[in-house]
Amino acid sequence: MAKLLEGKFIADQIKEKLKTSVQSLRQVPVLASILIGDDPGASAYVRTQAKIATSLGIKYVLHKFDASISEDGLIDFILKLNADTAVNGILVQLPLPASINYMNVCGFIQPDKDVEGMHPTNIGKVLFGRARIAACTANAVMELLNSTGVDLYGKEVVIVGHSEIVGKPLAMLLLEKFATVTICHIATSEAGKLQGHVERAEILIVAVGSPNLIKGEWIKEGAIVVDVGINRLNEKIVGDVEFNAAQRRASYITPVPGGVGPVTVAVLMRNLVEAALAQQQ
Ligand code: NDP
Repeated sequence: MAKLLEGKFIADQIKEKLKTSVQSLRQVPVLASILIGDDPGASAYVRTQAKIATSLGIKYVLHKFDASISEDGLIDFILKLNADTAVNGILVQLPLPASINYMNVCGFIQPDKDVEGMHPTNIGKVLFGRARIAACTANAVMELLNSTGVDLYGKEVVIVGHSEIVGKPLAMLLLEKFATVTICHIATSEAGKLQGHVERAEILIVAVGSPNLIKGEWIKEGAIVVDVGINRLNEKIVGDVEFNAAQRRASYITPVPGGVGPVTVAVLMRNLVEAALAQQQ
């Protein structure tokens, strides 16, 4: 039976260290968060972020906009936040209206204020293994893997999902540790090859957004399973992996909720504090 990889424990350790770092800053660090529209998931996530930021001594400033805001309007606002020396970090909440392209917008956030690590400069630094700020969820997965004590060197790691915010940056962070990384996506499934890749994974990371996509019986005995997916199914929040069956085969598995999510928020706050520290030098 797999051990549970509880995110709360790791998140608490990160947050505890952050409290000391925040105290060493000359000014209260400020995180500007931009929320567009009224997506209930994003609104709930913002409330969680605000609560955690405040508990760490970070000032969380929420800027809400109607879904009718244009991409140019949003970019103008970001440029104002870039110019505001009191603002240390800028965060654009997802999802965005269809009229706004996330990657376009991220390209206008000043790289040293880009706490989600989505500016092309910061993504490029991940590629060169020189990232000070890397994508929050990808980093959170690395924290969870580290907590198991696993040596990634030469391990067969399979990532399902190749999005810019999770799968792609995560693959780079894992390569940096000399893992052997396979990235699966929709075409892998369509070619009927997903099961085969999952079955040989010593470490499996799934970030798709499709409940029970990964069958428990596909999990290799003793594998480490990190389920990033968040789905609402029959009034419950579930991941992308058939949890009960997978838990019987894996050595470690993240619960959903309570696995990757809390660590992602803690890493976001760490990115903000890193940004503030760099800006005050
Ligand atoms: P995206 O929709 O951007 O990416 C999903 C990925 O899954 C794409 O690469 C897509 O491939 C791939 N995919 C879709 N269907 C299949 C399939 N049948 N088989 C294999 N691959 C498939 O989502 P995100 O990366 O933003 O998020 C993924 C999940 O993680 C969501 O549930 C989200 O809520 C959750 N999430 C959780 C976070 C946390 O902190 N816990 C943070 C961020 C996300 P293609 O593009 O080729 O179609």
